Amino acid sequence: MEQILQKGAILLLSGPSGCGKSSLLNEVYKDIDNYYFSISTTTRDPRVGETHGVEYFFTTKEQFIDDINNGNFLEWAEVHGNYYGTSLIPIQKALDEKKLVIFDIDVQGFEQVKEKFSNITTTVFITTPSLSELEKRLNTRGTDSQDIIQKRITNAKKEIKYISQYDYLLINDDFKLAAKELVSIANIVQIKSSLFNHKNIISKWLN
Ligand code: 5GP
Repeated sequence: MEQILQKGAILLLSGPSGCGKSSLLNEVYKDIDNYYFSISTTTRDPRVGETHGVEYFFTTKEQFIDDINNGNFLEWAEVHGNYYGTSLIPIQKALDEKKLVIFDIDVQGFEQVKEKFSNITTTVFITTPSLSELEKRLNTRGTDSQDIIQKRITNAKKEIKYISQYDYLLINDDFKLAAKELVSIANIVQIKSSLFNHKNIISKWLN
């Protein structure tokens, strides 16, 4: 099938911080093939257990601004007072290799990626069943100070309003079920008709 694909596909996930996007992704990787997770660059401090080059590339504000000015980002945004961005080159490479490129980015990044790659992008909004459940998860995660948790909750109330703009909605209530649904989405987006070289297929089919 790879020969008839024009390029890879993008699976873009957004949702309030603490809704379980990273845990869900870690759960589904074993069940999907040929994917590339886009490791973002951020100016926020690493959390306990995070490693440079695994969850994020951690950088300084000065370096981040230089990268913006040099056109190194496919998209970037300021979220909760820190900068986050997606580097352009690894994404182009993964798409040329016809991979499923997975983004975990906020609603501002969503708008920028949709604008640039609408044909090949499928979007999923992930959330907890309620705001109080999100607050509970952010508090029990124990990785952030009260001040940071409050910023994330304030932002979550804004982000939830984007829910209708996404192709799929995952309510992460039952973790196993949500993971299963995410695997289904990851598989189905790779056979989206707009990813294929239709002319090529038709001419081969006619012969
Ligand atoms: P966290 O600090 O919890 O890891 O991430 C905070 C928010 O930033 C999350 O909503 C996450 O999806 C978003 N985010 C992470 N990387 C990027 C990125 O490269 N671009 C944008 N626009 N948002 C990002």
